[in-house]
Amino acid sequence: MARTYEPVIGLEVHAQLLTRSKMFCGCSTEFGAPPNTHVCPVCLGLPGALPVPNGGAVEMAIRAALALGCTVRNRSRFARKNYFYPDLAKNYQISQYELPLNEHGRLEIEVDGVKRRVGIVRIHLEEDAAKNLHPVGAGGDTLVDFNRGGTPLMEIVSDPDMRSAAEAEEYLRKLREILMFAGVNDGNLEEGSFRCDANVSLRPTGQKQLGTRVELKNINSFRFVRKAIEYEVMRQQSVLDSGGIVEQETRAWNVEQSRSFTMRSKEEAMDYRYFPDPDLPELVVSDEMIARARAQLAELPAEKRARYRSALGLTEYDASVLTSHPAISSYFESCTNELLKACEKPLSPQQAGKRCANFIQSEVMRYLKTEGLGLQVPVTASRLAELIAIVEIGAISGKMAKEVFAQMAATGKAAKKVVEQKGLSQISDASVIDGEVERLIQAHPEQVEQYRSGNKKVLGFFVGQVMKATKGSANPKMVNEALRKYLEG
Ligand SMILES: [Zn+2]
Repeated sequence: MARTYEPVIGLEVHAQLLTRSKMFCGCSTEFGAPPNTHVCPVCLGLPGALPVPNGGAVEMAIRAALALGCTVRNRSRFARKNYFYPDLAKNYQISQYELPLNEHGRLEIEVDGVKRRVGIVRIHLEEDAAKNLHPVGAGGDTLVDFNRGGTPLMEIVSDPDMRSAAEAEEYLRKLREILMFAGVNDGNLEEGSFRCDANVSLRPTGQKQLGTRVELKNINSFRFVRKAIEYEVMRQQSVLDSGGIVEQETRAWNVEQSRSFTMRSKEEAMDYRYFPDPDLPELVVSDEMIARARAQLAELPAEKRARYRSALGLTEYDASVLTSHPAISSYFESCTNELLKACEKPLSPQQAGKRCANFIQSEVMRYLKTEGLGLQVPVTASRLAELIAIVEIGAISGKMAKEVFAQMAATGKAAKKVVEQKGLSQISDASVIDGEVERLIQAHPEQVEQYRSGNKKVLGFFVGQVMKATKGSANPKMVNEALRKYLEG
């Protein structure tokens, strides 16, 4: 009988800090610049060049640590991690080893109703390596772009607390969200500013001792993390079931083939000959710095969702869509605040929140998607609030608002201007609507008879006729009321 095994998963995340300059020099961290244009003696590792830590990067790492419940060390050390590779001109990477900046945090996740608290062992600072390029036309040569070399990174190491690929994926999503809302990482997996390695092992169910772990590299999307871990769990299980032994090694995920391959047998920490970097003094962080970072820490996504539900009455789904990115939630919040101020008709915070949530989720997000704008909303939050306010007082219909929004986005004009220029104003004049309804009732006696003998569906026919006659600009609520009055009266 096959034994049952329990997967044990820990994750190491490298998250790029959102500083404008590198970790130990003043070079720009801009993405996509021509190769080797953001370099200097320090990040090229030229002899005699001395590193100076980026204070902004230290502050951001502290903020991230506080968001993840870590303890920040007042004294930590930079260390040299020694290895040879073409993308590492110094032959060592400046990292932290024995005394990391932050330790002992946690992150709560929930998968299929099961909550789990994942421990965070440490969050340390380090510099990124350069990038090896293998361009077509280079005759098989490898070229090195040092622009990325020296970019500030945080390495976030979790405890091996996850028990399934789904939990690992959820942990990563939550972590990315927290780092983005803490304003320290852009969460961009495609550009490599949020990267993950996974350590996976199996042990017989019920056993305490951990099995041999395999490190998975090159997993650069949430989907691949899940697939790569699922694949690795199955692979190890079949090795164990057939009486074999899992080798400690590093494997790389191959996207095209949906399987992993051996990269190298696993190195141990001692292989890197870590030692304190003699060029860098102890990193000293005062309690005042920690207090300042705590004060700068913005509301985190889980707190936001709870507030959207309790104070604004949004559903869990709406709250989660609106907190999918800091840019969206800040847009939503400004829009709601502006609507409360701008609307002539007094609204409760719940009403304002609901109106803005609906419009942003339907129209704004759809527009961004179809136009391929990412998160660059072309209409400011206060302009959108003006538009929603116009709908609210009944000057235009919700349907027209969509058209007006598209125009605002395309032309940069204010809602009132678009409405005026397109002559879109909704007909809310009762005498106009009454006149139209009376005319239609006289023109369609047969349908009136049907309605009066109980076929209430005919109402829809009349509504359609009024809308057609007014080119869709009649206030639908008033049309309905007027029709009922005439048909039933
Ligand atoms: Zn530099």
